[in-house]
Amino acid sequence: MARFIFITGGVVSSLGKGLMAASLAALLQARGYSVRIRKFDPYLNVDPGTMSPYQHGEVYVTDDGAETDLDLGHYERFTGVAGRKSDNVTSGRIYQQIIAKERRGDYLGATVQVIPHVTDAIKEFARADTDDVDFVLCEIGGTVGDIESLPFIEAIRQLRADLGRGNSVFIHVTLVPFIAAAGELKTKPTQHSVRELTSLGIQPDVLVCRCERPVPESDRAKIALFCNVAKEAVIPALDAKSIYAVPLQYHAEGLDQAVLEAFNITDAPEPKLDRWIDIMDRIDNPEGEVTIGVVGKYVGLPDAYKSLQEALVHGGIANRVKVQIRWLDAELFEQDADKVAAQLEPMHAILVPGGFGERGSEGKIASVQFARERKVPYFGICLGMQMACIEGARNTAGIAGASTTEFGPTAEPVIGLITEWMSAEGIQKREQGGDMGGTMRLGAYPAHLTGNSHAASIYGEADISERHRHRYEVNVHYKEPLEKGGLVFSGMSPDGQLPEVVERPDHPWFVGVQFHPELKSKPFDPHPLFASFIAAALRQSRLV
Ligand code: GLN
Repeated sequence: MARFIFITGGVVSSLGKGLMAASLAALLQARGYSVRIRKFDPYLNVDPGTMSPYQHGEVYVTDDGAETDLDLGHYERFTGVAGRKSDNVTSGRIYQQIIAKERRGDYLGATVQVIPHVTDAIKEFARADTDDVDFVLCEIGGTVGDIESLPFIEAIRQLRADLGRGNSVFIHVTLVPFIAAAGELKTKPTQHSVRELTSLGIQPDVLVCRCERPVPESDRAKIALFCNVAKEAVIPALDAKSIYAVPLQYHAEGLDQAVLEAFNITDAPEPKLDRWIDIMDRIDNPEGEVTIGVVGKYVGLPDAYKSLQEALVHGGIANRVKVQIRWLDAELFEQDADKVAAQLEPMHAILVPGGFGERGSEGKIASVQFARERKVPYFGICLGMQMACIEGARNTAGIAGASTTEFGPTAEPVIGLITEWMSAEGIQKREQGGDMGGTMRLGAYPAHLTGNSHAASIYGEADISERHRHRYEVNVHYKEPLEKGGLVFSGMSPDGQLPEVVERPDHPWFVGVQFHPELKSKPFDPHPLFASFIAAALRQSRLV
């Protein structure tokens, strides 16, 4: 049976619980254990798919087509274990299921209540499909004391008994602030947060204390005494210079050791950390630097592009170079060619990421044109591929009115709504004006690359599988004019209906992909497209 690690947070949000969970899982893996990480989100949205990136950051998509919290991206990047639908649940989804059951009459006349019905559903979710792993880490979103998270806290309290003695460990992540006026670290918020947690019936086994300064032994001892945990189980967590330094840092502070001790595991193998040491060596000792311009809409909040940002870093790791990302607001580029050139000239490569809606699109199209004409490496992802097709249609195929139906009716729908496609579950159909939630073409789909294409040479194979999240698609009827204009369709869905990859053979590096390769990139296994794109940027940097 799997052992469970429950992770809660206290005092404030944004303490890096997700990174802590991912790092701990990576450390357990380095000791030879298998892991799964799950996230409970207390909000009422059924999934984060319909939330604005400004509200919630990136929506991370799994192979099996779930739209999940961005923490699942960290989990997968740190462990290489592909997330699944069953690894992220919200209060909204739990209530949706319970209410559907109630309407069907499945409760046979019982009063449906938070305890036991909601808590049972949470417990079931936590335990489902975990027999094959050594450790299951469950992160509870939000902060202890929130009204919304109470049913989750109650469920994990009950699970401690259900799972049997010694099979669960509770980690609480808190803040130890430095008060400049007093010149001291303060442990009181941690004490209060632990008191709040114990009042809900949970005594933490391990405390992870985020702080800006090293925590003196005396403060560690004080926290241990007041919070009823072993001194060795009070783990200071200072800010790290790179998120990939976090596993090594936690190991140095004794986190994995403290967790194993809390489980009474005394015969754990020593961790093999070479993977993380090599990554940090590459990050700390770069042999060059490239600047990538990312032209998008949500550039005020890089969390909206979390996986993209990390995949670019991974491309840097692969090439041993430092990657500087310049976030450029597409709207600022609109209708001003001089501005476009002024902003983009210093870039060694240009990337237009995924996105939704018309705002800023002319700026993105202008960026594509700049990259094409000046022969600067261009990478278009999802909407960025669609913009490359519209640019190609307008400026190299003579289709002046080219647009996408996403922005309204158009006489030249080079990009249109996908109304039908083949999925593993059979034919999927969609209509204009249908439901927004969970209805995109989501998750992993195969694509076939043309044998002699640039894309196939980058991947080193012709049959690939990548994750998707889109409602619109390049209209295959425009293939011929676009290819005449030099934009070649080099990857298609297996039925030949949906364009998946476009490229320009007469350009040093110009690739557009309908999918999101950033979701599968890992620091220890950089995605080939990102590794190749950064290599192209490096060549470009040597030209200018
Ligand atoms: N808005 C576009 C579509 O739905 C692109 C989506 C994306 O970039 N993820 O097809």
